[in-house]
Amino acid sequence: MAIKGGKQSTAESLRKTRTFGKIRCHNPSCMERIAPEPGSDHAKCPTCGMEYRLFWVNDNLPRIRGPVWDVNRELAERTFAEKQAAAAAKKTNKGGK
Ligand SMILES: [Zn+2]
Repeated sequence: MAIKGGKQSTAESLRKTRTFGKIRCHNPSCMERIAPEPGSDHAKCPTCGMEYRLFWVNDNLPRIRGPVWDVNRELAERTFAEKQAAAAAKKTNKGGK
């Protein structure tokens, strides 16, 4: 039996409201939604700067394949270095002798 025009199934009406083409940042402290360029194989989070490699399930459904380690390691190292510097500065301020 064919479905007659006009009436949509629940799945079809849901499909309209769903945000296709977006991924969620994998950074646990960020979780920002990223909307990558259609067809691009990389996406950068505008909030935390993490970069991800993408694959496309179909034309408008991206998935994160994995992080771009070079970029993210750099970010992590910078954060670490800043923390180290802050800790060192604190130590100096307390003053030894
Ligand atoms: Zn992020």
